[in-house]
Amino acid sequence: MLDRRALLAAGPALALAPKAFAQGAIALTSPALSVSGRPLQGGFVIGRTAPRASILVNDKPVGSASARGVFIIGFDRDEPVQAKLSIKTPWGALDHNFQVMPVDYDVQSIDGLPQDQVEPSDPKLLERIREEAKRKAVGFASDIDATDFRNGFVEPVTGYRLSARFGGQRILNGIPQRPHYGADLAAPLGTPVVAPADGTVTFAETGLHFEGALILIDHGQGLVSAYLHLSRIDVKSGDKVTRRQQIGLVGKEGRATGPHLCWRMKWRGRNMDPMLMVGITRPDSLTSD
Ligand SMILES: [Zn+2]
Repeated sequence: MLDRRALLAAGPALALAPKAFAQGAIALTSPALSVSGRPLQGGFVIGRTAPRASILVNDKPVGSASARGVFIIGFDRDEPVQAKLSIKTPWGALDHNFQVMPVDYDVQSIDGLPQDQVEPSDPKLLERIREEAKRKAVGFASDIDATDFRNGFVEPVTGYRLSARFGGQRILNGIPQRPHYGADLAAPLGTPVVAPADGTVTFAETGLHFEGALILIDHGQGLVSAYLHLSRIDVKSGDKVTRRQQIGLVGKEGRATGPHLCWRMKWRGRNMDPMLMVGITRPDSLTSD
C-alpha cells in the first residue's frame, strides 16, 4: 500500500514491486503498478501497469489499460475519502487503496441572468435543451483508444483571470443550482483558445442554449475536455488536434455574464478540475512513450 503523503510529495513514479503468491498449484504474479498525480476530490492519477489489464474503481469495471499499460482515473467532485483501484490480468491481480483528500468548495452567486438560463419553462425551449443534451452526451461518451493525456496539459488560454473555481456551489438569480463543474478563465473577447493536449474532437457546435458554442475533445481512456461559450470554433467533429493548436476564440455565448472560457473535464461520468491537470508529471516509466 502506498503512503498518501509520499504519493503527494512524490511527483515521480512510485513503483510497486510485483509480489508473487501461490494459489493452489498455479503460481500467480500481481501486475506491476506505478502511479503519478494527486488523489484529491476533482483530481487525477495517471498510472502504468500491464498492457490491456482490466481497470476497476471501487469494484466497478471502467475499461482497460492501453497497449502500453497506460491508464487514467479521475476522482469526482464529491468522491468519498476511500477509493479502491483494482488491476486485473489473466495471471494475477492487485488492489491499491487511495485516500482521497477532501476539498472545500466556495459558494458562487450570479445574479441578473435571463430567467430562461436558470429555470427554463417554455416547452419548445425544454425540447431544444433535451435534444442538445443528447448530442452532447454522445460526445462525452467517446472512448477512443489513445493516451493523449499522458504528457499532461497546458492552459488553453494565456493571460486569463480565474473568475470562478471548479466545484463552487452555484446560486443563480438566488436559486441553488448544480455545482460549477468548470474552471472559468476570464479573458478578452476573441482571445485564442488552444488545445491543452493532443486529442480528437468529438463535438463542435454553435448556438447551444447554455454553452453557446461548445467543443469536446477526447484525450483517450475516457477523458474528455470541454470548452464553452466560444465566439468562434475552428475545428469540427472528428478532427485530430495537437497540443497548442488553436481551436477557437473566447466568447460570451450562452449562459455567461462576460467573456470567458469555461473549461471542463470529465472522466467516465465523473467531473474533475481541469486546472489540476496542468503541469501534472507522469510516472518516469512513461518517458519511453
Ligand atoms: Zn464555468
